[in-house]
Amino acid sequence: MKKRSKKSPAKVQVEQETQRIGKEIWDHLDRRKPTLFERRWWLDHILEWAMQDESIKVQMFRFVDVLPMLKSSGTVTTHLQEYFEEVRTHLPVAARMGLDVAQPDTLLGKALAVNARTNTRKMAERFIAGTKPGEVFRSVQKLRDKGVAFSLDLLGEAVISDVEAEVYQQAYLDLIESLAPKVNAWPEDPVLDRDHTGWIPKCQVSIKLSALVSHFKPIDAERTSKLVKEKLRPIFQLARENDAYVHVDMEHYEYKNLTLQIFQEVCMEKEFRDWPDCGIVIQAYLPDAGDDLKALLKWVKKRKTPVGVRLVKGAYWDYETIQSEYRGWPCPVFTEKWESDANFEEQTQFLMKNHEHLRPAIASHNLRSLANAMAWAEEFKLPKSAWEIQMLYGMAEEQQHLFSELGYRVRVYAPFGELLPGMSYLVRRLLENTSNESFLRSAYDQEASIEELLRSPKEIAKLVEKTGVTA
Ligand SMILES: Cc1cc2nc3c(=O)[nH]c(=O)nc-3n(C[C@H](O)[C@H](O)[C@H](O)COP(=O)(O)OP(=O)(O)OC[C@H]3O[C@@H](n4cnc5c(N)ncnc54)[C@H](O)[C@@H]3O)c2cc1C
Repeated sequence: MKKRSKKSPAKVQVEQETQRIGKEIWDHLDRRKPTLFERRWWLDHILEWAMQDESIKVQMFRFVDVLPMLKSSGTVTTHLQEYFEEVRTHLPVAARMGLDVAQPDTLLGKALAVNARTNTRKMAERFIAGTKPGEVFRSVQKLRDKGVAFSLDLLGEAVISDVEAEVYQQAYLDLIESLAPKVNAWPEDPVLDRDHTGWIPKCQVSIKLSALVSHFKPIDAERTSKLVKEKLRPIFQLARENDAYVHVDMEHYEYKNLTLQIFQEVCMEKEFRDWPDCGIVIQAYLPDAGDDLKALLKWVKKRKTPVGVRLVKGAYWDYETIQSEYRGWPCPVFTEKWESDANFEEQTQFLMKNHEHLRPAIASHNLRSLANAMAWAEEFKLPKSAWEIQMLYGMAEEQQHLFSELGYRVRVYAPFGELLPGMSYLVRRLLENTSNESFLRSAYDQEASIEELLRSPKEIAKLVEKTGVTA
């Protein structure tokens, strides 16, 4: 006879707490604002408009992607017309008329181009903390004033030459050298600058290993590893000297194992073995996540010094599914959203349980995922200072401030750098925010009920099974 799976008493208790905490937070947010995530960042309804029609959204984001490369207002207007001609019948009448009359090199055409550039820049400023060091410093200072900590990330993916890789490494060295002394001079904030064991660095950066070399090739692991380590060591050394913290981001699945291996090998070297101010990312959309965390725990116990683990769902879902289908490989990510959510909760539990070795940073904007993390922390009797909540710059700002007011350590991942390399980051954020599966989008929907938003992934699985509807 088939055995019926029984929920453990701890899981039942945590589920009840998740519901209680989630509703309490929702009420606080509701009371503070008429809408949960402050409409202002949806930028004058542009995103709302795009969300209503998939075809407009695709054209809009294609346009945003190409815009920094367009030098004259004439080419901007021409591209706008070309891209939006394809979805002409979906556009509101006013937009259709605007595109018709605004010919390139006319006054109206120029006005349209200026408008497009200004709006895109404004959109970028929501998600990017600045281009120049002065702007970046002002942005992190503002975060600090609101009780929020930071981790800075230099924009720039797909490094393809040695010169670009040098520039990337040097930018981090310069950043740590110039920023750390300034932020270290800030008066201490006990919530942001201490965990349950002691002092934690104020200056934190996030780094992509693939950008340290011109060709990050898992197939040539030995050589890639040697070259990456040569670039990573000086960053770790400088961070250590300046009391800064370095977090290694996780990228595509293809890079995962080599990234984990390089991180662990460098952290095991004599000069870094007793250094706790470094961390790595685990992506819950990968069924591998549980095994990777268990392996990390085994390794860190041997190391005898803890490391940070940022738990995320994973930013490359579209890429992974398209790539694996194209190559005829097994898909490395879950294909149902509830599966990623369920795995996120499973790994949250693991991290909370093993927080002395793998210091948890729970990175999400999903109220259900975060309420569940708070419930697991309570279950294991962790003080608030023993873990942290991480969010992206410009996203769910209301939640950031509320959690900080409630005494949680909130850290914002703040990208900075030139707009051109920043575009793919910006488009990723826009896609994420407007995706049908996104929590933030559901929460923005006025019709959404808190019961639906807090529904457990397992419940959703049952509903999917019953109704056959996946989203
Ligand atoms: C501080 C911080 C740092 C980050 N660093 C990284 C990093 O280093 N590497 C990285 O990859 N990501 C990183 N991310 C991004 C993160 O992986 C998510 O893309 C993002 O946070 C959205 O997830 P959510 O929990 O906030 O929202 P939710 O709306 O709850 O979840 C959206 C996520 O669910 C998953 N998903 C969507 N549709 C499906 C589906 N059909 N089947 C299965 N899963 C699906 C995807 O991962 C998607 O991003 C970071 C996020 C934060 C907040």
